Amino acid sequence: MASLKTISFFKILFRNGRCPFLQIKRDCHSTTVQKKFYDIVIAGGGMVGTTLACKIGMLEKLSDKTVLLLEGSPEKEWIFENRYSNRVSAINPSTKNLMESIGVWKHITERRFKVVKKMQVWDAISDAMITFTSDEKFSDIAYIVENDLILASVTKQLKHLNNVSIQYGAKVKNCVLPQSGSSEQVSVELEDGTELKCSLLVGADGASSLVRKTMGVQYLSWNYHQMGIVATLRLSEPTDNVVAWQRFLPSGPIALLPLNDELSSLVWSTGTEEAKAILKLSDEEFVDTLNEALWKQYPSDNIVNSATKHFNSVLEFLTLTSNAVRQLQPSIVSVESKSRAAFPLGFGHSTKYVAPGVALIGDAAHRVHPLAGQGVNLGFGDVVALTNQLVDAVSEGNCVSNINYLLRYETLRQRHNVPTILVIDGLQKLYGTTITPLVVLRSLGLQLIHSVPPVKRAILNHASV
Ligand SMILES: Cc1cc2nc3c(=O)[nH]c(=O)nc-3n(C[C@H](O)[C@H](O)[C@H](O)COP(=O)(O)OP(=O)(O)OC[C@H]3O[C@@H](n4cnc5c(N)ncnc54)[C@H](O)[C@@H]3O)c2cc1C
Repeated sequence: MASLKTISFFKILFRNGRCPFLQIKRDCHSTTVQKKFYDIVIAGGGMVGTTLACKIGMLEKLSDKTVLLLEGSPEKEWIFENRYSNRVSAINPSTKNLMESIGVWKHITERRFKVVKKMQVWDAISDAMITFTSDEKFSDIAYIVENDLILASVTKQLKHLNNVSIQYGAKVKNCVLPQSGSSEQVSVELEDGTELKCSLLVGADGASSLVRKTMGVQYLSWNYHQMGIVATLRLSEPTDNVVAWQRFLPSGPIALLPLNDELSSLVWSTGTEEAKAILKLSDEEFVDTLNEALWKQYPSDNIVNSATKHFNSVLEFLTLTSNAVRQLQPSIVSVESKSRAAFPLGFGHSTKYVAPGVALIGDAAHRVHPLAGQGVNLGFGDVVALTNQLVDAVSEGNCVSNINYLLRYETLRQRHNVPTILVIDGLQKLYGTTITPLVVLRSLGLQLIHSVPPVKRAILNHASV
């Protein structure tokens, strides 16, 4: 039987019906006493999840919402080093705008980034090529920024915000989502046993997303049986190095992204076994193999040559030929020691991005081949679209988890993401073949796009948002 002392302890504890150790939260639909309630819990503190937390935390309209960012891995202190990281992203002008809107771009520019002024993409087994150049009509093509620098800059900004908490080493083990039409909250359980409740759970937990699996949605995915080899490369001659290069080899695309006048970052997609073998080469052998991949002349196919030549004459007749000249790609003199690594490549798309109480963003919703440098940009686009809908929901007197707004987010993003990822997947397949009719088809397509500025602009515009 409880002693008198124990009873009076609980009376004091629950004075006025409130327990100071338990947070009481009035949900949009019901009043419930919960342990550790947050309006929004974000599972996954990669570049995309952390940026979402920062963007929500900085929006006036969402300033009374409590937000918790959960990152499974321990907190890593980021220390600026002269040596470049081997993981970089080509980010598009929309991503730059997002970073500016949350005060992060200034942290990036205080450190380092490289503006890409031109992009040259060409086919190793035909003469076809396409270039994109920044001019008064096209803004900068892209910005090359190290992933660690993006994450550290967003985190720096995030730590100034009062309404957002971050927990590192906090891996989500299980979540229970509300049934459709119910007013229940989402329950989240961490690996250390901590239990949380929230109105909205955002899955930003990457391509193997636990949140997506819990939603039980259909996930269309396949493996490219390729790995993306990354490394930091020293160019044989310093230049102003403002061009991003991509050569499509039958085994996969090889891209050089500028870092500074002397260094570029490599993303070389090739078959899994070949990639593993390339990683085992000595630095000198690696540089030789890489230069061969950049320069090797493939036997020319007469049918392809004749088709592209005739098509060029037609374009000339129609005064559609582009006067952009082919620039010679750089050669590599050395690779920065221990900068080589490789990552498996695959495709993935979740048929649904939302369900009651939950939304997916970033690689949790879609995974693409890096050949178009779009993966994280699509994720940042999700951040903008989701926060717009959260603001609309709250402005119109609704809860952040109101399904109508979440569905609007899904529709808006799928309208952009689905065609983008299908084109990227199509290009990966189209350039992975040496079958003559397909080489002819892709070469003529590339020549045509290259010669028609409005089409080129439309492509660049699509890739920039
Ligand atoms: C070789 C290569 C080159 C690329 N280049 C480009 C490029 O130039 N431009 C571009 O736009 N994209 C590029 N990408 C794609 C880009 O890297 C990804 O799209 C991006 O990293 C995805 O970010 P994310 O935050 O959505 O997911 P992730 O980076 O996967 O982050 C997910 C986070 O969630 C955490 N997590 C996972 N599970 C849990 C859990 N249960 N609980 C708590 N936390 C959890 C993880 O620890 C991780 O920190 C490239 C990809 C590759 C492989």
